[in-house]
Amino acid sequence: MTYDVVIVGGGPAGLAAAIRLKQLANQAGRDIGVCIVEKGSEIGAHIMSGAVLEPRALNELIPDWKDKGAPLTVPATDDSFLYLTETGSFRLPTPPQMNNHGNYVISLGNLCRWLASQAEELGVEIYPGFAAAEVLYDETGRVSGIATGNMGVGKDGQPTPEFQPGVELRATYTLFAEGCRGSLTKTLIDRFGLAKECDPQTYGIGIKELWEVKPENHKPGKVTHTAGWPLDSKTYGGSFLYHLEDNQVVVGFVIGLDYENPYLNPFEEMQRFKTHPAIRGTFEGARRIAYGARAISEGGFQSIPKLTFPGGALIGDTAGFLNVPKIKGSHTAMKSGMTAAEAIFAALGEDAPPAEVTAYPEMLKKTWLWDELYTARNIRPSFHKGFLAGFLYSAIDTVLLRGRAPWTLHNHADHTALKPAKDCTPIAYPKPDGKLTFDRLSSVFISNTNHEENQPSHLTLKDASVPVEVNLKIYDGPEARFCPASVYEFVDAEGGGKRLQINAQNCVHCKTCDIKDPTQNINWVVPEGGGGPNYPNM
Ligand SMILES: Cc1cc2nc3c(=O)[nH]c(=O)nc-3n(C[C@H](O)[C@H](O)[C@H](O)COP(=O)(O)OP(=O)(O)OC[C@H]3O[C@@H](n4cnc5c(N)ncnc54)[C@H](O)[C@@H]3O)c2cc1C
Ligand code: SF4
Repeated sequence: MTYDVVIVGGGPAGLAAAIRLKQLANQAGRDIGVCIVEKGSEIGAHIMSGAVLEPRALNELIPDWKDKGAPLTVPATDDSFLYLTETGSFRLPTPPQMNNHGNYVISLGNLCRWLASQAEELGVEIYPGFAAAEVLYDETGRVSGIATGNMGVGKDGQPTPEFQPGVELRATYTLFAEGCRGSLTKTLIDRFGLAKECDPQTYGIGIKELWEVKPENHKPGKVTHTAGWPLDSKTYGGSFLYHLEDNQVVVGFVIGLDYENPYLNPFEEMQRFKTHPAIRGTFEGARRIAYGARAISEGGFQSIPKLTFPGGALIGDTAGFLNVPKIKGSHTAMKSGMTAAEAIFAALGEDAPPAEVTAYPEMLKKTWLWDELYTARNIRPSFHKGFLAGFLYSAIDTVLLRGRAPWTLHNHADHTALKPAKDCTPIAYPKPDGKLTFDRLSSVFISNTNHEENQPSHLTLKDASVPVEVNLKIYDGPEARFCPASVYEFVDAEGGGKRLQINAQNCVHCKTCDIKDPTQNINWVVPEGGGGPNYPNM
């Protein structure tokens, strides 16, 4: 099938791009073919976010979103920022970036479902349940579309009776909107050397639960962030608690993936956090409804790769447009998608559309997105020297220098940060109580994760001996801890010793293993389309 534009990923970036393309085409009375492929079973199924939405990009894209029934119903009311010690807490001044006046507490999954309905009304074709598994190139080396993965291939790599070959979707331009650490984006970055002139991208892992709490513990629009306990001062991270409608509260914990101690277990840190005296009261008598995890891009401005290549471009989190001090990337993902759409629409109108739409990054540099990321660029790397240094530097950078310091602090790749286990102290985590704290498997259960079992593992190892020979020996097998879905287990091998067992069916597609594996031996590729979590409203 052939389109003018194929978009990989139905998140905020991909949907905003598709809507803008069709809006422009309708205004100009031109017909252009736009399609989106999404690996989740439906739009929103793989969307895992906070989320407090800054509506700036949405206001520009669909100014009458209120009349059109967008699911933005809970304005953020009060912000607080707490520093936690092991037993106490004190309130810190809310950093200006965390001021949420004018923003909304939302489910990003539900916003995406609504954006998809708007896109379809405009004529965008959306194919959920189809994972883009391969980038297609023409004979000149230009990207010419994508191929979706084959369905019905058995564990042994052979076709089963259910075999259906993947579909080739060709396009003049292909937009990659895969979100943080896109698997096809990774191959494009390598092939076109897109990250040659920027800092390495850095990430965090975000773990989130949705709860239904008692009415007396619920205040719609309440937004709380914390720093400090249970993390030590060298580990970057913190929590968020957002109050939605209908007595629902989301609690999430983000940890920078440049943590050093291989014994650290992000899932357990999140569970421990909920037991803090300042936090646990919210969940008294409450019921946990949903669970999810997802990596988050933290590199910011200095880690933005080259955005275009012949036949395509990167938009949204896969290019790293998240504003870390705000912990927000939806508005920037949408804005980048809209800007790419405007540049591509103009290019499609030319007599000879250019191979590479270099107008996109040029236009982006003139938008509020660029300025926003530029002024926030030094905040995250300033925490490399610990919480206090980062907090003080950030105050000076934001209030006095207003983000215009004549220097730029740099990022390092997360997988290089892990220290050998012998140099670190094991961490003893408390046992879950099944009421406020849980184990990983019961958590994965409520993420509604499902994969066809008879398929090749989508967690591929470049060298099968490395997990035991290097990761286990030197780092005490950190993949068994950093995966929030218990996918990796070191079990007894026949004939003695250990082997790595990969429970790929539990994978919630967070991409942490692809990022944090110290040997970069794990390569996450898409499983059969439709597999993975089925988040209801995350
Ligand atoms: C814990 C956490 C809290 C956050 N809190 C906030 C917040 O409060 N406010 C805020 O604004 N932002 C927040 N963010 C960031 C925000 O979620 C992202 O910036 C935003 O979702 C990025 O949008 P995107 O469209 O680029 O990518 P995504 O939202 O990740 O969407 C990408 C889509 O592409 C699909 N996809 C990926 N690869 C393929 C493929 N090969 N084939 C087919 N489909 C594919 C995925 O399934 C997914 O649906 C948070 C993120 C996390 C993890
Ligand atoms: S296997 Fe990797 S991508 Fe899947 S849940 Fe575990 S860490 Fe995340």
